[in-house]
Amino acid sequence: MKHVIIGAGAAGLNAARKIRSLRPADEISVISAEDSIYSRCLLHHFISGERTVEAMNFVAPDFFSQQRIQWLKDAPVQSLDTARKQVRLQTGDTVNYDTLLIATGSLATIPPIPNLRTANQVFVLRSLADAKALAHGARAGMAAVVIGGGLVGFDAAVGLAAKGVRVSVVEMADRILPLQLDKKSAAKYEALCGEQGIDIYTGQSVREVLLNQTNDVLGVKLSGNRIIEASVLVVAAGVRPHIEWLKDPAIKLGKGIIIDEHCRTTADSVFAAGDATGKTGIWPQAVKQGLTAAANMCGQEKTLTDNFSLKNSLNFFGLKTVSLGVPETPDDTYDVEIYETPAVYKKLIHKGGIVYGAIFQGDIDYSGIWTGIIGHPLSISALNAKDIFDIDYSDFYKMTPDGQYCY
Ligand SMILES: Cc1cc2nc3c(=O)[nH]c(=O)nc-3n(C[C@H](O)[C@H](O)[C@H](O)COP(=O)(O)OP(=O)(O)OC[C@H]3O[C@@H](n4cnc5c(N)ncnc54)[C@H](O)[C@@H]3O)c2cc1C
Repeated sequence: MKHVIIGAGAAGLNAARKIRSLRPADEISVISAEDSIYSRCLLHHFISGERTVEAMNFVAPDFFSQQRIQWLKDAPVQSLDTARKQVRLQTGDTVNYDTLLIATGSLATIPPIPNLRTANQVFVLRSLADAKALAHGARAGMAAVVIGGGLVGFDAAVGLAAKGVRVSVVEMADRILPLQLDKKSAAKYEALCGEQGIDIYTGQSVREVLLNQTNDVLGVKLSGNRIIEASVLVVAAGVRPHIEWLKDPAIKLGKGIIIDEHCRTTADSVFAAGDATGKTGIWPQAVKQGLTAAANMCGQEKTLTDNFSLKNSLNFFGLKTVSLGVPETPDDTYDVEIYETPAVYKKLIHKGGIVYGAIFQGDIDYSGIWTGIIGHPLSISALNAKDIFDIDYSDFYKMTPDGQYCY
């Protein structure tokens, strides 16, 4: 049996490892457009010069030989023919499969801001090649504007500031990292940004890019007409699945590659996982989908039960935060619990005994419990008498009739 995986990222390599553990004798090939293995979440450390490419590898250096996996690197896939069960590379070579996993990740989107698409010195941050271009194009003493204050934009800002670039971040929402943080926890990072020389403009958008006659960037004009001078722009305003090469009619596409709860696509023996599905934009969920797809590629009936996709740990300027689920109450039918000291901020959002969101900042001990409680989900209704921020797993133990512990 031959398993082929397109993509050597979070979903692809975790799937490959899982298939090897389930099927020691099967053939496995991983195809990737790039020639190195690295975690995208660490790219800001590469921009700042704190990490080499090797130090961003998230598998052992001998992963492929040790796992007996063929790695076709620097080999972009051009097309897929599901009728022939065949992948065609841009080189013209073909690779046949019995089962196929598509895990090609995502690409940055460029919003339709006047002059943005014609400007020189505009960068995105998705890949190592992007990080190399940005590190080369933005040098100490230059001024850069980052469009978008989400995870990717914030990473770019931190990486650039660490190498001496003067950075401004423009974010449409009323705070940075709006998917992960509420106003209060975001304010801590915004204050730390100020100390690091990063200017934050929230509640505003870039209305126009200002160019000279040769299309070099002079700055940006914001929605409130403020002008920020800069010679470099970084666009971090969203992603789209990296599937423009996928034209086979048997594979239905929606926001991304459509998959069922087994990570099966609409084509026979073809699975998809990670950002390419448009269902997730974060690492842990890509891993889970990859593992689910792998089990099903090996004939197991594994269902992806945990679609809990808003889960992030942040560590910027020495301040650690874990954010789970929603950071703000969706409406006023939800209850909020807060614990706060000058150094620590904890928040829980719940309704009818079910927790929908949690933020732990400054003290992230025991936050893992809340990942389980929210993901499961476990009811907190029975804990009324207890300090909600002082619970552990034992508070959820029950005993089954045969004497086993369960939650
Ligand atoms: C700067 C940055 C910071 C981030 N920070 C965080 C964070 O803090 N926390 C978090 O949870 N998530 C973070 N993410 C998101 C996270 O990295 C992604 O969700 C995750 O990498 C998705 O995994 P994946 O396997 O779907 O795709 P990827 O890891 O993107 O891998 C895609 C693979 O497909 C290959 N490929 C693409 N097209 C082709 C083709 N045509 N032919 C062959 N190979 C191809 C690529 O070479 C690559 O090997 C960040 C992302 C970025 C860019």
